[in-house]
Amino acid sequence: VVSMRDVTKLFSNGTLALKGMSLDVRPGEFISLLGPSGCGKSTALRIIAGLGSPSSGTIDWPSSPVNAKGLPEGDIGFVFQEPTLMPWATVFGNVHLPLKLRGQGKREARDAVMAGLASVGLADFADSYPRELSGGMKMRVSIARALVTRPRLLLMDEPFAALDEITRQKLNDDVLRLWRETGITVIFVTHSVFESAFLSNRIVVMRARPGQVHADLSIDNGSVRDENYRTSEEYRATTDRVSRALQEAI
Ligand code: ATP
Ligand code: MG
Repeated sequence: VVSMRDVTKLFSNGTLALKGMSLDVRPGEFISLLGPSGCGKSTALRIIAGLGSPSSGTIDWPSSPVNAKGLPEGDIGFVFQEPTLMPWATVFGNVHLPLKLRGQGKREARDAVMAGLASVGLADFADSYPRELSGGMKMRVSIARALVTRPRLLLMDEPFAALDEITRQKLNDDVLRLWRETGITVIFVTHSVFESAFLSNRIVVMRARPGQVHADLSIDNGSVRDENYRTSEEYRATTDRVSRALQEAI
């Protein structure tokens, strides 16, 4: 789905955020991306989304439709670390935006937008404004917006960091269900060892800036999909491995 080769990112202010990062993302993987604050996770995600270009190295999206600039077209959904809802638009308007940019008017897009809102439990809030929603609800709107174009790749940058534990667990379950049911490929940035171990079948730990892959752990797919996984010995072992990798990565 994505192939990152030896990517370096040097910002214009002289900050070297990534140095020689390589990552191959295969179809249907649920990757958690962890690493110390400032190691370049958001930078890597933006490059994967085509929102930022590498200073050197290459990024490819094999089998994704690309536009004239060679960037992936509509095939990637992004849930940003910072809230990015448009305050002047309703919840409906916010989720409609990606379809609007593709030339779909309100009437034409209505079913898709409403189905997306229903899938995150917000069908009754279509006419509300972002300021009327709680943090968790805003996050759900962002998720609905990222999914409304039915992307094959979903990028989420610490989506649940600011939420209470119960909402977070519910959204974890929702994302996991989405992944199981649609076969979507996910890259999920988190600081939570538990979240990563619970959600993903591959955990990539980056080392401190300049970032690059420090550890790349695979978890048996069957386990992650098993209802009893969260209480299993294997889950404990996974969290131990990830914690150790994180300690080494600082
Ligand atoms: P966190 O876990 O805190 O979100 P991160 O791993 O996502 O951190 P990035 O946001 O990718 O880290 O930042 C990596 C480094 O690049 C940091 O040193 C940051 O200050 C720097 N950086 C990020 N964006 C820019 C920018 N637009 N211009 C200059 N430096 C930047
Ligand atoms: Mg970040």
